[in-house]
Amino acid sequence: MYKEKIKFPFKCPVCGKSEFVDVDYLLEEDKDIEVYTIDPVTGEKKLSDAISAHGVHCEFCGWTYDLKQVLNYDVVGDRNDKTVNEQKQEYQNKIQENPDYSFDEEMVKPKPHMCPICGEFEFVDINSYDVCPVCGWIDDGTDTSPFTDYSEVNVISLKDAKEEFKKKRLENPKYKFKNNR
Ligand SMILES: [Zn+2]
Ligand SMILES: [Zn+2]
Repeated sequence: MYKEKIKFPFKCPVCGKSEFVDVDYLLEEDKDIEVYTIDPVTGEKKLSDAISAHGVHCEFCGWTYDLKQVLNYDVVGDRNDKTVNEQKQEYQNKIQENPDYSFDEEMVKPKPHMCPICGEFEFVDINSYDVCPVCGWIDDGTDTSPFTDYSEVNVISLKDAKEEFKKKRLENPKYKFKNNR
């Protein structure tokens, strides 16, 4: 049983800034955990709402609770794509660059990115749902999905949209979506 293996509460193994606390009322192994953040000044504990699709994570470094990783810092486990030791290294680098780095704050920051179809227009954020004035692509986040190439919103795949744009440019080198509506 996990309770015999882990001593609760324990600090985040990656950054040490949040505290993972055992909760008795749920029996499923992975739901038995809550994350608390500790105010560095007052030492006061506060229940964190850092719960993502993958589970409970540390809001400071993004480490997601994984029993396997608590027990062994050198395994990748089921919920993180890197080992604890690798994540520690990454976190240290981020802190060096920006001492105030926080995973959760980083997640909500706008992420400007070039249009995946034409590469000539910069969207202000991921999933902005803005329309690219150059090629007409609606920024629905398909380009950041590891699972699909097909955009329900644009009703076309990324691959086909790129080909169509290429064709339009061959026919008319000055083609721009906003001039052709
Ligand atoms: Zn952490
Ligand atoms: Zn575009």
